[in-house]
Amino acid sequence: MPDSTLAGGVPILEAMSLPPGFLDELRTRLTLSQIVGRKVTWDMRKSNMAKGDWWAPCPFHQEKSASFHVDDRKGFYYCFGCHAKGDALSFVKETANLSFMEAVEELAREAGMVMPARDPKAAERADRRTQLSAVMEEAVKWFRLQLRTSAAAEARAYLAKRGLSEAAQERWEIGFAPDQRTALLEAMKGKGIAPDLVIEAGLCATTDDGAPYDRFRGRIIFPIRDGRGRAISLGGRSMDPKGPKAIWM
Ligand SMILES: [Zn+2]
Repeated sequence: MPDSTLAGGVPILEAMSLPPGFLDELRTRLTLSQIVGRKVTWDMRKSNMAKGDWWAPCPFHQEKSASFHVDDRKGFYYCFGCHAKGDALSFVKETANLSFMEAVEELAREAGMVMPARDPKAAERADRRTQLSAVMEEAVKWFRLQLRTSAAAEARAYLAKRGLSEAAQERWEIGFAPDQRTALLEAMKGKGIAPDLVIEAGLCATTDDGAPYDRFRGRIIFPIRDGRGRAISLGGRSMDPKGPKAIWM
C-alpha cells in the first residue's frame, strides 16, 4: 500500500497519532529562517530580513548563486534550482535524515513544546481504516472476476442490453455478486481476511445468531470511490424487475 500523505508530505497515519492542532501550533512557534540558517549562508544582498524574505545557495543541490528561498511568513521554502520545497518539519527531516516523528520531536523540543504521549488508539483506528479499505479493494477485485464466470451470464446480457460496453464496464469497475449466501465471505477467508473485517467493511451482515452472510447476492456491483480514489462503498443493482432495484451500503 502506498504511503498516504497530507499536504506538505505529512504522513497521515503518524500525524493522526498526535493531538489535533499540535503540528499547527508547532509550526507557528518556529521561525523557519532560524532553522534553515544553521545549514546555509544567507545572501544578505538578496535577502530582506524585515520582510522575513531570505535567500541562500541551496542546501539540497550544488550551486554558487542563491536560488533557495525561505518565506518566514508562510513558513515555507522553495528552491528555484532543484524545486526542493517544504516547511520546517520537512527541512529538518531531509537535512538531518530523520523520520517524520523524529523531526517533530526535535522541533518540539526546540519550540519548548511538550511532546504529547502518542495516542495508540488513534493510530489503531487509522490502521483499522487502512485495513478496511484494503478489504474493500479485495472485494471489488473479486466481484469483477465473478462477472466473467458462467454464473454471471445473465448479468452480462443485462449490461449489454443497456449498452454498457466492456470499456465502460472496465471504467466503472463493474462486477457481479453471485446469488449465494457466503460466496464472498468464503473468498475473503481464502485470502486470509478475517470475517469480522469483512463484516466491519459492510460487505457481510449477520443473522440474529451471529452467522455472517453476504449482503450483496445476485446483483451487479460497482464501487463508489471518494476523491482520493478509495472505494468507500458499493452499489448493487438487481436484475430482477420485481425486486428492489438498487441497494447501497
Ligand atoms: Zn536546490
